[in-house]
Amino acid sequence: SNTKEVDVLIIGAGPSATVAASILHKKGYTVHIVEKQKFPRFVIGESLLPRCMENFQKANLIETIESHGFQKKFGAMFAKADEYCDFEFANQFTEGWGWTWQVQRADFDKVLAEEVQNRGVTLEYETEVTDVKFENDGSSTTTVKNKDSEYYIKARYIVDSSGYGKVLPRLLNLEKPSNLPPRTSIFCHVKPRQVSESPERKRIIIIVHLDNVWGWVIPFSDGTSSIGMVGDSEEMDNIKGSMEEQMRHWIANVQALRDRFTDSEFIFEPRKIAGYSSDVKQLHGKGYVLTGNASGFLDPIFSSGVTLATESSALAAELIEKELEGEPVDWDLSYTEHIKKGNAVFKAFIEAWYRGDLQKIFFSENRNEKIRKQICSVLAGYVWDQNNPFVTKPERILANLSQVIR
Ligand code: FAD
Repeated sequence: SNTKEVDVLIIGAGPSATVAASILHKKGYTVHIVEKQKFPRFVIGESLLPRCMENFQKANLIETIESHGFQKKFGAMFAKADEYCDFEFANQFTEGWGWTWQVQRADFDKVLAEEVQNRGVTLEYETEVTDVKFENDGSSTTTVKNKDSEYYIKARYIVDSSGYGKVLPRLLNLEKPSNLPPRTSIFCHVKPRQVSESPERKRIIIIVHLDNVWGWVIPFSDGTSSIGMVGDSEEMDNIKGSMEEQMRHWIANVQALRDRFTDSEFIFEPRKIAGYSSDVKQLHGKGYVLTGNASGFLDPIFSSGVTLATESSALAAELIEKELEGEPVDWDLSYTEHIKKGNAVFKAFIEAWYRGDLQKIFFSENRNEKIRKQICSVLAGYVWDQNNPFVTKPERILANLSQVIR
């Protein structure tokens, strides 16, 4: 028949999806994932934060990831011409993970998807959700396989983890413009002529170019690296030429890239994306929840994407379980508030970054050890620690600190 019945339908097969799938499957529910593309597929978002390890742990996926030999990440280094400011996650205020990974997402997402399939989750690739109808006791979703045959999925609950696809926000008119200004990023994977030493590869480099233009270097375990530049769209659009010419322009003009990647080979033609910040009017409704990028995205500067994507989906999975067991769930309180809290901390840091305040703090002479540890915990993704003043009142403390330094 062309109708399938499951407890939970998950849209998309990125990390947000597979974390939710793993948790719900383990609880004994039937879980079905539909993914529009064929894996492996490219997606940006390669530098993880230690905090997301807790979500992979909840989903019992740490060992699976570990066995694939991804590059371990122990910190983040900010670089501005010849100045450096290093953060080591082991040396942080909050008790938590001191490391995580830097991953090629095509491989990483495929590893996770295959693992949940092995455990018994069903997954259809090249299957696109085109319509959803909510009914009294669940939903009926129309999917199109290989752009050809239609299938219907009846589900008690839908988790929308469709990332930039934003399936339910679009179908249910939940989209809301982000209040961050439009920004643009150009990026690529490169093969350096000389592979860097292993201590250099164990962390990412965030390059301060201008207050509103920055770059990244994310080394992978195979010796290649992801490099990218991000900035206000106006600024980025000043650079003309083909994608390759634009990327070469940045390599030639940004010292940390020039030192490492002059004459290096591009593994694929550089890609550009713009206007990726997004928001939604609500994160849940009867019979569905939005997780990961489908629920909104802020900015790439602090690598918060996958951490928030897995935090939201792990929490959503736990709440869906409760609801399917017949327990009352206050989604606003237990879900929306938690996600918004974490987002608000990152947002305060993002705004302080693009104002230039954080750079001043990072490169100032008087580096207070306790403050550095507290900032390090936010950079590690520990944005729910109510003992950290940078979590409880980030705007005020960042503004004060940059005043003092000035
Ligand atoms: P995704 O991983 O995007 O997965 C969604 C899946 O849904 C896709 O596979 C897609 O094919 C599928 N899909 C879409 N539409 C449909 C449909 N109609 N039917 C079925 N399936 C569908 N995050 C980090 O953590 N670290 C970083 O360093 C980082 N760098 C970034 C740099 C830039 C320039 C940008 C813009 C973002 C960056 N991010 C980063 C954010 C990161 O890309 C996302 O937060 C993350 O990929 C979200 O994961 P997800 O599981 O929600 O969605």
